[in-house]
Amino acid sequence: MTPFRPGDRVPSTGIYTASHYQHRMPHEVFAVEGERFPSCRRCGERTRFTLLHEATRIDEDQDFTRSSSDSKSRNAAALSRKEG
Ligand SMILES: [Zn+2]
Repeated sequence: MTPFRPGDRVPSTGIYTASHYQHRMPHEVFAVEGERFPSCRRCGERTRFTLLHEATRIDEDQDFTRSSSDSKSRNAAALSRKEG
């Protein structure tokens, strides 16, 4: 799996492993789809992010939200993305 870099768009909400350059051991972070991976204030652009475990925000989960029409369109988009 290709790692993501600071400035890249977060492809899916979930837990990512952040791997730094020399100064710190890899650790887990939570990132939200559509946001940008941040640069590290110590190793800057050399941080790499890999998706460890995809997770849904609880307020966007189809069984925890009241607006079902919105979640349906999100699921359709996710399916077409995986097929393509
Ligand atoms: Zn760092």
